[in-house]
Amino acid sequence: MFPMFFVGKKPRLQNAHYLHRQHCEILPDAHARIPIESGKIEHAIEEAEKHFNIVKVCTLCMPPKKTTSQLREAAL
Ligand SMILES: [Zn+2]
Repeated sequence: MFPMFFVGKKPRLQNAHYLHRQHCEILPDAHARIPIESGKIEHAIEEAEKHFNIVKVCTLCMPPKKTTSQLREAAL
């Protein structure tokens, strides 16, 4: 079974709809979200974009991945 993502129906900042993971602290209520079953975040974003024009990823439940150079800087 794939992990579930949820996209909020209510637009937030700059009309963006936020994509969350199931365990997110600020996950919208059941009536205010659309479930998206997907194994990959990239695919979940594509699916969410079929519902809404502007989709952003919630940084609370999906912090941006660090690039290799950022990791190298952090290690210095
Ligand atoms: Zn979230």
